[in-house]
Amino acid sequence: MKLLSVKTKNEKETMLVGEKFASVINKGDIILLSGDLGAGKTHFVKGFAVGMGCKSMVTSPTFTILNVYEGGKMPIYHFDMYRLSSKEEAEELGFEEYFDHNLLDGVCLVEWPEQVSGLLNGEHYNVTIKKGDGENEREIIVEKKK
Ligand code: ADP
Ligand code: MG
Repeated sequence: MKLLSVKTKNEKETMLVGEKFASVINKGDIILLSGDLGAGKTHFVKGFAVGMGCKSMVTSPTFTILNVYEGGKMPIYHFDMYRLSSKEEAEELGFEEYFDHNLLDGVCLVEWPEQVSGLLNGEHYNVTIKKGDGENEREIIVEKKK
């Protein structure tokens, strides 16, 4: 089900969409972020953290795979699965618990989620960010999947 489709003109606007989106999120929610490199996935998460009342510095977890931000309404688990090669690797690293709505004690946001979509159990949100015509234009589509 499509919940939202909105265009942004700069990174601040994308962060604001992330910030607003945080207000509809509950404990155990899983958000998959899709879009090319440089689309704005990490900036969306930066705004999301602000919306959760979290003052931690949000950075790309490209090398760490997982960043955890505390101090807000609930823990934020921010993944970047780009360097992961398989679903099995995610299981070996013990990431399964983050993709189970019932076990998750916070909210989970996943960049490059393709490898782990098989680990998902139950409903989740898909956030897709597409580059537009202008260099700084983006379209953000938010869907809820059963
Ligand atoms: P991703 O995580 O998808 O690879 P990032 O959020 O790390 O992307 O980077 C997005 C880049 O695009 C940043 O350099 C940001 O300044 C730039 N940018 C330009 N316009 C936008 C926009 N409308 N929304 C988000 N980022 C934008
Ligand atoms: Mg990123």
